[in-house]
Amino acid sequence: MADRPHRIDVHHHFLPQRYMAEEQERIAGYKHGGMTAARLLSWTPAQSLEAMDANGIAVAIGSVSTPGAWFGDVAAARRLSRMWNETAAKAVQDHPGRFGFFAVATPPDTDGALKEIAYALDTLKADGIGLLSNYDGKSLGDPSFAPVFEEINRRKCVVYVHPTMHPCTAGLIPGLIPQGIEFPLDTTRTITSLVLSGTLARCPDIKFIFSHGGGALPFLAARITHVGQGNADFKGNNPRGIEYELKRLYCDTASAESAPQLAAMQAFFPDSHILFGSDFPFIGPKHGIETLDKYPLTPAIRAAIDRENALALLPRLKTS
Ligand SMILES: [Zn+2]
Repeated sequence: MADRPHRIDVHHHFLPQRYMAEEQERIAGYKHGGMTAARLLSWTPAQSLEAMDANGIAVAIGSVSTPGAWFGDVAAARRLSRMWNETAAKAVQDHPGRFGFFAVATPPDTDGALKEIAYALDTLKADGIGLLSNYDGKSLGDPSFAPVFEEINRRKCVVYVHPTMHPCTAGLIPGLIPQGIEFPLDTTRTITSLVLSGTLARCPDIKFIFSHGGGALPFLAARITHVGQGNADFKGNNPRGIEYELKRLYCDTASAESAPQLAAMQAFFPDSHILFGSDFPFIGPKHGIETLDKYPLTPAIRAAIDRENALALLPRLKTS
């Protein structure tokens, strides 16, 4: 029998059928682990609710997955972002207390992204903004994205960052899908880019969540910090210190529930910055929850990861 619904799942994907139908050619080119195209194309909020009820998940925060809404076409990006965001807002409205969402915005289209951020936060009441780890190979610290982060910082908003493949890594190991190595490494690369560029230091009011345990960050943070000490830009852009900025970040547990991953996450991040995530519908929540449940945690830390940390980060959930 499923345990009482209490978990808050911050890594949960909405795949609106209109968005998927319009994008199926591009999405079909992306291999999503063992998921079939038919299953991806038939997602509904009811499927999420069924998986949530079976796995003790009270609330899921929907976000877009790769490849997102940016394909180099401004008009298409604006249309897809709006379609995705309005569908997500409807799911939240139709199922009170069960969903939230991180709205899609496309930073390469600065004006469009700024308008969508305003609409999503002010009108649709999004819980934050969902971004991908790179756009056209540009990591998130790219100077062209600075106005978008400046605006998100002004709004003291949560930014959820999901990995996508970096184009220069395509085919490096033939036959290996990017989720294996490239996704966590692109997450690590984009975090490094955000700290090197000073974006993190300039945006102290953004709370960043990075998927899958923050990629390889917990393992590599000391090395990144060490390299940064000898680099004038790195140091100059981070007056409070590189480690200070990195430790402000949050991560989720999706596909990061193994003992070595959790040990590294706990050794690097404050316990209050680790959040439960499932990666549904690409991954069923059951295995991750069972693995997490076997890992030795105090009841207080387990409750914090499963629920309390997300409530502190996303206070709207307390009243919904
Ligand atoms: Zn995901």
